[in-house]
Amino acid sequence: MRAQDVQDILERLCNLLRMEMRQFGLKFGLQPVQIEALTYLTQCNRYSDTPQAVTEYLGLTKGTVSQSLKLLDQKGLLRKRQDKKDKRIVHLAPTAKGRKLIEQSIPAKGLEAALKMSHSLKGSGLEEGLRSTLHAMQRHNNRKTFAACHTCRFNQKLSEGFLCGLTNEPLSKQEIHMICREHEYAV
Ligand code: SF4
Repeated sequence: MRAQDVQDILERLCNLLRMEMRQFGLKFGLQPVQIEALTYLTQCNRYSDTPQAVTEYLGLTKGTVSQSLKLLDQKGLLRKRQDKKDKRIVHLAPTAKGRKLIEQSIPAKGLEAALKMSHSLKGSGLEEGLRSTLHAMQRHNNRKTFAACHTCRFNQKLSEGFLCGLTNEPLSKQEIHMICREHEYAV
C-alpha cells in the first residue's frame, strides 16, 4: 500500500472524527481542541497533567492551549491544583462533570457501527497495525511517544508492585495504564 493512499484515508477518517467531535461539542459550547485537551487529561498520569504537557501532546501553541484550559475551567470541567513541592507547577484534572462529558464523546458517533460492518477488520489486527505505525512514525520523526506507562522502558515490576525507574516512585496498578509525557519504548 502506498504511503500517499494511507495518508489520504487517515486524513479523511480524522476529518470525519473531528466533524463528529465538533458536532458533539456544540451542545456544550466546546471546540474540538477543548474536547481533545479534556480527553487527554482523563488519560494522563501525574507527571503529565500540566498545561505544558497538554501543549506538547496536542502540538499546538501555548496561547491556544492556555485559552482552551481557561474555558474548560470556567465551565467547571477541570480543576487546578498547585504542586505540593514546587508551587510554580500547576496540575490539571477533569471534574466529575468533565469526565462524564468525555465518556459521552467517545467513541465518535458511528465509529463502533462502522467497525462492526467492516468485515476485513477482525480481531485486534487494526489496532496493532495503527499502533505500530504511530510508534514507528514517532520514532522516525523523533517525537514524544505519550504512550501507556506499562510499555515504558523505565517501568519496573517488583514483587510488591510497580516502580518508575526514572523518578524512583511507586506506581499504582491504575497508573501503569495511563499515558505519560516521559514515556520511552525500549530500543
Ligand atoms: S515508567 Fe515511564 S511511563 Fe511510567 S511514569 Fe515512569 S517515565 Fe512515565
